[in-house]
Amino acid sequence: MTTTDSGKDWLTPLLATWRGRRAWVFDQQIAIARIAAPTGNESDRAAMLQQDWRDVGHTVTQDRAGNVIARVAPTGERHRFEGSPLVCLAHLDTVFSAEQPLCVRQDGPRTYCPGISDNGRGLAAMSVLARFLRHPDVRARLQRPVELVLTVGEEGEGNLRGATQWFDDAAVRGGTPVAAVVIDGPGDRTIVHHAVGSRRWRITFTGVGGHSWANAGTPNPVHAAGACIAAIARLADAHRPFGTVAVTRMHGGEHLTGVPTQAWIDIDLRSLDPDRLGTMSGEVERLARRAARDASHTSPTQALHCAITVIGERPAGRIESRHPLVTAAESATRAVGREPQSASASTDANVPLARGIPAIAIGAGGTGRAMHTADEWYDDTGSEFGLERAIRLVAALATTDVLVR
Ligand SMILES: [Zn+2]
Repeated sequence: MTTTDSGKDWLTPLLATWRGRRAWVFDQQIAIARIAAPTGNESDRAAMLQQDWRDVGHTVTQDRAGNVIARVAPTGERHRFEGSPLVCLAHLDTVFSAEQPLCVRQDGPRTYCPGISDNGRGLAAMSVLARFLRHPDVRARLQRPVELVLTVGEEGEGNLRGATQWFDDAAVRGGTPVAAVVIDGPGDRTIVHHAVGSRRWRITFTGVGGHSWANAGTPNPVHAAGACIAAIARLADAHRPFGTVAVTRMHGGEHLTGVPTQAWIDIDLRSLDPDRLGTMSGEVERLARRAARDASHTSPTQALHCAITVIGERPAGRIESRHPLVTAAESATRAVGREPQSASASTDANVPLARGIPAIAIGAGGTGRAMHTADEWYDDTGSEFGLERAIRLVAALATTDVLVR
């Protein structure tokens, strides 16, 4: 029972409607998955969903990053939190290139298609929420505006670009949301409220190079890279399991018989703790500079140059299990007969969590595996539970005062 509504009976028939439309939701998911949306080139999929939202009556805008945005304003007398919207986000992009075939193949209960789960399922749920929030019974009960946002650039080197843009813009116009709900992939149990932060760097060592015999003693960038890798391996041992650091790619040298002019290594640092991430980053930088210095001792006038470039950065952040947003998500999970599970992940929720804005990420029903591979699949069995959980959660956050209690 909430303090602002005599009961939740108004919600029951709406939930029943969506249980009955499971096949429609799945068809929508497949239609979405069939449209390529590589990170940085999401416009075809964005256009399809923009049209879908317009068809059900929303005014839809796109920001300069390419995010698709619809704002649902309260119509009733009850709205009390005018300026602080609830925001729901789902990412448009996939890790797959434009050349990746997007064939849909059925094998038993499994539907195979790259991107069908991540984030075809989350986007299909946004089509449902767009309809749910247009319903007069819902709008009359909204206590705050709700913004639906389809983000670009969530995956890989997209670096949460779309979510970052949206939260930057919201801060500028004074519309920082009261909470953010990210809908990412399938599932009906997990609640992500710990955001794994990461930093991806390329460390490049450069020198003058020379002949391996005639110019022996010329500082060698590959030697520096090797020493740096060995030192990073020891650092990794020291920080596990609270932080991880891995050298993930390496390259160096030009000729079999030449002192190289260049070598580089890529590293991936991760932690749930922003302070540890900062400490580890500082240590890696010191190790890299020392490796360059040590490899230069034979000829200091030809000292190696060490440059660090940032390839990617995802901020860390968290809210505790007792936070009202997490407990609201747990209630919605139990209401559909599932046992909630806390989880940590890297999603669009990293952006608000790192800024102190409460945020969680949840799935939208069904099961899926092999995400980020060409063999990705999705099983729609029981998907109505996860979808209902998402609807219940959004309804609770938008139509009651559960977040300010
Ligand atoms: Zn995803």
